[in-house]
Amino acid sequence: MTTVVTGGAGFLGSHLCESLLGDGETVVCFDNLGSGRRTNVAPFEDLDRFTFVEGDVRADLATELDRGGVPVSDVDRIYHLASRASPVDFGEHPQEILETNSIGTRNVLELAADVDASVLYASTSEVYGDPEETPQTLEYNGNVDCRGERACYDEAKRFGETLCVTYEDRHGVDVRTVRIFNTYGPRMRPDDGRVVPTFVRQVLDGSDLTVYGDGTQTRSFLYVDDLVCGFRRMMERPGLAGDVVNLGHTNEITINELATTIAELSAGDSGVVYEPLPEDDPQRRQPDLSRTRELLDWEPTVTLEAGIERTIAHFRENELDA
Ligand code: NAD
Ligand code: UDP
Repeated sequence: MTTVVTGGAGFLGSHLCESLLGDGETVVCFDNLGSGRRTNVAPFEDLDRFTFVEGDVRADLATELDRGGVPVSDVDRIYHLASRASPVDFGEHPQEILETNSIGTRNVLELAADVDASVLYASTSEVYGDPEETPQTLEYNGNVDCRGERACYDEAKRFGETLCVTYEDRHGVDVRTVRIFNTYGPRMRPDDGRVVPTFVRQVLDGSDLTVYGDGTQTRSFLYVDDLVCGFRRMMERPGLAGDVVNLGHTNEITINELATTIAELSAGDSGVVYEPLPEDDPQRRQPDLSRTRELLDWEPTVTLEAGIERTIAHFRENELDA
């Protein structure tokens, strides 16, 4: 079983590679190192079953893998995670994000069609935009501004889902889609810009936590190990071709509550400073898990407190000089 993980040197991808390798699989990590880090996969590089290929999904994937010494006919499964995911990057790299999630996703699906591989597509809760309904069900079609600050990401991920549906329908590709809600944990970059690594870096630096807006906007934070479990069930269970699920925690909290939790668990003396809310920042986010439970028997198992403690410990040990 050879599994390709695009975006495998990123936060989620590196945890997925670790989980697959732990079960004896042969793993190819394909990444352009745009927002990922080679150090995330450094512990696996001594294994014969692990190959790192530096390349871009916007290029012809078969050629790129061949260049990296990977026989494409061996590829059975592709987890397609490649994409910058931090809202800070939406402002700095909009064209790259649009192309990665459109041309790049098309290239992944073309390869899958050619070699008869299954695909898991990493979509996002951002397909719901700034939702008018909570919790967000799969049937809710979203509230996205196609010209807004987040459009390069939200619209490209929506387009990516349509590509998946089309390749399933027209080319018979086995594609499964997961809509990921805010997930956090070790190996996020301290300068990533997303809220958990930012707050954890700030408490460890002893600086104040930068809460955007009045902090009453909500998110539901999932620990990475739970997500990887959901990814793998979605890919490995038979009969799920063409299906889509939400993966996220149901514990919806405000950003003020998150700041308090992280400050308390770090035992530091950071305060809070309020900064302007970015444009189009969604007000609420919480997944409806009905279909996820039905298809995957999956529930989040790690509490926010336990996950944040593990993340703080990892940052203390590995990221303090970053
Ligand atoms: P990340 O930035 O840590 O990882 C993304 C990886 O993709 C990086 O290693 C980056 O170098 C690589 N990459 C980006 N563009 C590429 C390209 N054109 N070619 C090859 N590699 C490329 O972010 P993450 O949080 O691990 O996100 C992984 C995936 O999950 C993304 O598709 C993201 O949209 C999705 N997602 C994540 C979350 C979350 O909360 N972490 C939520 C929703 C969706
Ligand atoms: N946020 C914040 N301070 C920060 C970074 C983010 O208050 O330093 C807020 C952000 O405005 C949003 C929430 O935290 O309301 C989650 O932001 P993140 O970038 O992690 O992910 P999003 O869910 O917005 O994609």
